[in-house]
Amino acid sequence: MIQEYLLKVKVKNTPYLKKQCNRCHNTSFYCSDRFRINAQKKSIDVWLIYNCNKCDKSYNATIISRSKPELITNDLFDQFLENDIDTAWRYAFSKEIAKINSLEFDFGSVEYDIVYQGESFATLTSNQHDKLIFKINYPFDFNLKISRIIRGEFGFSSNQMVLLIEEKVISVDSRFLQKKDKLRDGLIIEIDVLQIKGISNL
Ligand SMILES: [Zn+2]
Repeated sequence: MIQEYLLKVKVKNTPYLKKQCNRCHNTSFYCSDRFRINAQKKSIDVWLIYNCNKCDKSYNATIISRSKPELITNDLFDQFLENDIDTAWRYAFSKEIAKINSLEFDFGSVEYDIVYQGESFATLTSNQHDKLIFKINYPFDFNLKISRIIRGEFGFSSNQMVLLIEEKVISVDSRFLQKKDKLRDGLIIEIDVLQIKGISNL
């Protein structure tokens, strides 16, 4: 029997910035989820505001620099004005924004929950399903490894995970999982439970 699940990675916070504060020398900043806008007739600048985790000193990361007003849609402009949280988070996870500002995100600071309907992962492998299929919903990318999710949710040790990869029981978009594979939105992960049950030294 094949069982399909929609698996959502729900982030709880945006990544910290790895950046030294020039006031207190602390090295991390958090996103305030607020924008700063400088709108003039011919040019618009938008920044996302960060604050030092220790002394709260602010740092503005460039989102839009000297753009012509007509290039920004009214909707987007309203989202900046209203400090729309979805918009702020989209930029706070954007690798392009990190690049533009020569910033490094601390993806290790992102906490998340794995949300899906159905039985707990731990019991999934002990029931009668032959194969489990997970469709991944992962709207905010923070370099999460697929093997880390599977390990964490099924309770496999790192040695067991290595064995599962060697035995080719997990596939991602129809090719076998590699240890380094990162999660992407929309991926399909297949776990061959029948084959897992047949691995004697697991
Ligand atoms: Zn500081």
